[in-house]
Amino acid sequence: MITDILEKSINYLKFYKDRIKLPLELEKSKQYFINEEDKGNIITKDKEESYKTINIIEEENLFAEEWEKSGTLIDLNESIKYCTKCNLHKTRTNFVFGSGNHKSDIVIIGEAPGSEEDLQGQPFVGRAGMLLTKMLNSINLNREDVFICNILKCRPPGNRNPLPEEIKMCEPYLMKQLKLINPEFILALGSFAAQTILKTKEPLGKLRERIFNYNISGKVIRMIVTFHPAALLRNPHWKKPTWEDLKMFKALYDEYKRNKN
Ligand code: SF4
Repeated sequence: MITDILEKSINYLKFYKDRIKLPLELEKSKQYFINEEDKGNIITKDKEESYKTINIIEEENLFAEEWEKSGTLIDLNESIKYCTKCNLHKTRTNFVFGSGNHKSDIVIIGEAPGSEEDLQGQPFVGRAGMLLTKMLNSINLNREDVFICNILKCRPPGNRNPLPEEIKMCEPYLMKQLKLINPEFILALGSFAAQTILKTKEPLGKLRERIFNYNISGKVIRMIVTFHPAALLRNPHWKKPTWEDLKMFKALYDEYKRNKN
């Protein structure tokens, strides 16, 4: 008898504990989960390249924040430009949303704004930005053809590496940008951007020369990884492998355009 009463009381408490906790958990958890699967082979550059599918699954969020309801990049920018979700808002000069074609087939993603980007509020300006423009021009693209942004929208002081909690807070904005732009391709610049997007610790050397299928809630975006232009400025001998990556990217993009027409 006493055991029955105790058991009922415990179940009752457990039920209410879960009921009370649910909204808080939904509110603070971001709604993205990930799984990976190997997907065989395709032919690129006259040789077989293994590729992998990264599935980002968006969970229903009953407590969506205002910015999540944005229907355009302009709305999204307006909703998040005063963001204070992580400590980087205290040291930024400007929030750097990203720039370029809002309906582009291509999104270029770097790590975080540097000092010049922080001052101007624009991504990839300064020397690294000029080099990125040249890289794009080399494969017949202009900055206006693509959308350029970073994982983080505010500059980490002294260009230090982003912290995990900063990425956790900021990455949902990138996901929303990708959903609104709806691109066919991502070019990830540098190991940090690639590792963050692909949720991996693999070094850049193992992520280059591969094609990833990045699946955001059913939309598959093909992704290639290459060096960050700032790294190329420090290590000019990486320009040749970068050129190989860009040629691979161009071949994929040209093939896409051919099939589209
Ligand atoms: S880095 Fe991202 S999460 Fe942090 S304050 Fe800036 S916009 Fe907000």
